[in-house]
Amino acid sequence: MPEIRVSHMAKTFGDVSVLHDIDFDVKDGEFFTLLGPSGCGKSTTLNCIAGLEDPTEGAIAIGDRALVDRSKRIYVPTEERNLGMVFQSYALWPHMTIKKNLAFPLNIRHADRADRDRRIHEALDKVGLAHLENRYPHQLSGGQQQRVALARALVYSPTVLLLDEPLSNLDAKLREQARAWLKRLQSDLGITTLYVTHDQDEALTLSDRIAVMFDGVMTQIGSPKEIYERPATAAVAAFVGSCN
Ligand code: ADP
Ligand code: MG
Repeated sequence: MPEIRVSHMAKTFGDVSVLHDIDFDVKDGEFFTLLGPSGCGKSTTLNCIAGLEDPTEGAIAIGDRALVDRSKRIYVPTEERNLGMVFQSYALWPHMTIKKNLAFPLNIRHADRADRDRRIHEALDKVGLAHLENRYPHQLSGGQQQRVALARALVYSPTVLLLDEPLSNLDAKLREQARAWLKRLQSDLGITTLYVTHDQDEALTLSDRIAVMFDGVMTQIGSPKEIYERPATAAVAAFVGSCN
């Protein structure tokens, strides 16, 4: 059974249709990437899965649990979806220590204190930053802040990670390191990951499979090798083959 299943999803904002018949699945433990130019609908797809946007048509399931099914009027609110999400901007609270930044979602969930501290420590340990839990965000490098954001997503022990261009605020050198590190962490944890990027190199190096999107349509889904060597259309060839 696929871990994430998106069936015939469409999304309109007012009169503007931004996603058309989006249909794909992500296997358990897979690193799956949505790749496409800015404005093609990657974030909207992720936001619909996260419950930050409401699809106009279609269905979304995680494992055997329906999160959204327009035809059956099913809609699970975002806080009940058990997903970890990291955005392009890490959005840490500047006035809170790293530990407090991670405690914040747990406070909302009324976790008991010992359990909360254990979860925070474990999550920071996974990203190799447990020793920095009493620092403030500005005392950390961009790469470290990005890892804290990832730790915060892991604190819930989610079954699925949704990552929206998490490396794009880093400079080129840090981005290279962060890529290698992210790939290692994902395979160590074996966590099903849906990744969004406009960077073809990033997609080709990180992913088990890639879905290439243009104008709200998924044009091709395949392994990095298939996408690179056998692009389905001239547009895919031009986008995936072009250098940054
Ligand atoms: P990407 O993440 O691939 O850059 P987005 O999913 O952010 O693309 O956006 C897809 C399209 O939907 C864009 O044309 C964007 O302007 C439009 N869009 C996104 N969010 C909204 C919104 N809340 N209201 C209206 N249009 C939106
Ligand atoms: Mg986006």
